Amino acid sequence: MDGSEPVGNKMYALAERLFPICRSITGEGVRQSLQVLKAYIPLDIHEVPSGTAVFDWAVPREWNIREAWVRGPAGDKIIDFRQHNLHVLNYSVPIHRRIGLSELKAHLFTLPEQPELIPYRTSYYQENWGFCLPHRQYEALPEGEYEVYIDSSLEDGHLTFGEYFLPGATEEEVLFSAHICHPSLANDNLSGVSLLTFLARELQQTDRRFSYRFLFIPGTIGSITWLALNEEKTRNISHGLVASLLGDPGGFTYKRSRRGNAVIDRAVEHVLRHSGHPYRVMDFIPYGYDERQFCSPGFNLPVGNLTRSSFGSFPEYHTSADNLDFVRPQHLETSFEVYRKVVEVLEGNFSFRNLNPKCEPQLGKRGLYDAIGGHSDGKAMQMALLWVLNLSDGEHSLLDIAERAGCPFALVQQASRALAGAGLLAPI
Ligand code: ZN
Repeated sequence: MDGSEPVGNKMYALAERLFPICRSITGEGVRQSLQVLKAYIPLDIHEVPSGTAVFDWAVPREWNIREAWVRGPAGDKIIDFRQHNLHVLNYSVPIHRRIGLSELKAHLFTLPEQPELIPYRTSYYQENWGFCLPHRQYEALPEGEYEVYIDSSLEDGHLTFGEYFLPGATEEEVLFSAHICHPSLANDNLSGVSLLTFLARELQQTDRRFSYRFLFIPGTIGSITWLALNEEKTRNISHGLVASLLGDPGGFTYKRSRRGNAVIDRAVEHVLRHSGHPYRVMDFIPYGYDERQFCSPGFNLPVGNLTRSSFGSFPEYHTSADNLDFVRPQHLETSFEVYRKVVEVLEGNFSFRNLNPKCEPQLGKRGLYDAIGGHSDGKAMQMALLWVLNLSDGEHSLLDIAERAGCPFALVQQASRALAGAGLLAPI
């Protein structure tokens, strides 16, 4: 990998490698995907046996698929999994039969409103078989006898997930989680997987105040499984984000944690407010991605969900149009920058004590007017210095101060460094 290449291009290249693999909540597709990631970061790959009890759930049987097709009355393959892995209902049980059109239709899934697209459908917890196809093709199917063939297996095996733990100066953790269970869908899951992989690579190189835990897990059952097996570790989780939908052209969407005013909620909102990008913030709802499990009342972890377009809100969602044309390197890059800035806020959110709290200290004699004069926005820097001095009473962190002052965190941080350097502040 070329170090000078924009990270958005590298993220896109990783998404391209992962795109063709047929993933599901279990099976070889997940293992293959995690092996690809292992070339980028030293992931631990965990295998949890089918049937393992995880809270109110059980780890399902493992699904694998080799081939699936439908032959029409003329004998030609009219639907073929090899052409597109969305063509098969994910978790379809094996079948090989000849059936009439009406029986076949009971197992076909289409999108009448988007007749050119193949839908993404699953049947994890109810045994079924089926095919997904464009509605335009469905409408043109002739009467007659069809041959359906699905060479799959649904057997006791394992649920596979990837975990990468990067220790920091403290045991307090930042949790980043992405789902890895979708087959050829680019924005809904590969963008998040790719972003977190490169964020982990970057954090490897830095001094870390926090420890970082990256999870690459199947949606829902993966987070339930991880939480069930690692309950004691959750007490160290101070901040967290679920990452997905990060490569589309939409503005950012932040869904707050269930707590609503956790530091992660405030850090993300602060970064978005000063990012110059369009964004919206919504309160927690118990629907969406794995934040549903992390924010279940028995855990109530400070974990939000930071995406671009939100869950289910764009026409390409869960269709064959969520492909490598929909996701663009420059959008991945912008998303990466926002995640990086959130990490910078978390890492830098210290509190200080003003060592000269009685009236304002004289800035000039300490050379602090040089800091103001040398700054591209001298007035903003002066205000940042005054705010940091005024609110560094032991009750306010730098993020509190940045919010109150209405200025970017990085400026407040710069002001705190200048003041500490002049002996006016001490860290708490
Ligand atoms: Zn999805």
